[in-house]
Amino acid sequence: MKKSAVILGAVVAVLALGLVFAHAQPKPKPPFKVFISVDMEGISGIVHGDQTSPGTAEYADGRKWMAQDVNAAVEAALEAGATEVVVNDSHGSMRNIDPDDLHPKAILISGTPKPLSMMQGIDASFQACLFIGYHAKAGTENAILDHTISGSVVRAIKVNGLELPELGLNAAIAGYYGVPVLLVSGDAAVCRQSTEVLGKDVTTVQVKEAYGRLAAKLVPLAEARRMIKAGVKEALAKLDRAKPFKMAAPYTFELGYHVSAQADMGAMLLPSIKRVDARTLSFTTDDYIEGFRTLRALISLAPAR
Ligand SMILES: [Zn+2]
Repeated sequence: MKKSAVILGAVVAVLALGLVFAHAQPKPKPPFKVFISVDMEGISGIVHGDQTSPGTAEYADGRKWMAQDVNAAVEAALEAGATEVVVNDSHGSMRNIDPDDLHPKAILISGTPKPLSMMQGIDASFQACLFIGYHAKAGTENAILDHTISGSVVRAIKVNGLELPELGLNAAIAGYYGVPVLLVSGDAAVCRQSTEVLGKDVTTVQVKEAYGRLAAKLVPLAEARRMIKAGVKEALAKLDRAKPFKMAAPYTFELGYHVSAQADMGAMLLPSIKRVDARTLSFTTDDYIEGFRTLRALISLAPAR
């Protein structure tokens, strides 16, 4: 082949390659879905039930702070490349976040009851789960508004012998769908319990430190939101190393009530329930979600203290 022909061939090849690249579609971004469950007791600024209960003068502030904490997490998720962010309002009436106050790109799940309660909306299509504004389990010292699911009914919940805060019960739902919990925000106590239950790799953002159940030293609100945003970014950057929280089946749930009258209806009405003692019911299931639903039924059957 002549030298000029070789050069011509090379030029044609380069041009052809250029055309191919010019017409190649940009790679479609993989869907990157982030699920956020947001409770209220662990929100920056909150130290009292009046700030988390509709009908009080302080509630308007509480729900606004809740939206601002969650918006910091949403912003970070979007900046990290999330293609969809779903926020499940997970406190009380579950209508705390005013949709007008939520980040315009986030999808809100609002209201109650919901089949998966604080975890409604999660499924195997999500890559990451975040818990914002969470709180410590019932009976924790120096923890803002500590309780487990229902303050007036539940003394303790154990799964396979391990007493779990809401963050653990809910992380197991995420784990059921193969989704890891990457971050928990709240007071110092819930941060400590997050690491105890989920392991040292979970990112925690401590927005306050409690002096009891109803008082705390607060991180300034703007700084707390900056910390949540930075924490979510840091956590999502480590996503490939994160493992879903899974306990080994079968699951034995043990529900301890405050008083024996609260255990009566569950023990009388549901044949699969064992009465461990006056104030404790237990049952075993192979499917975690089925167990979680039974647990909620037992809590719902109990009269408030
Ligand atoms: Zn709550």
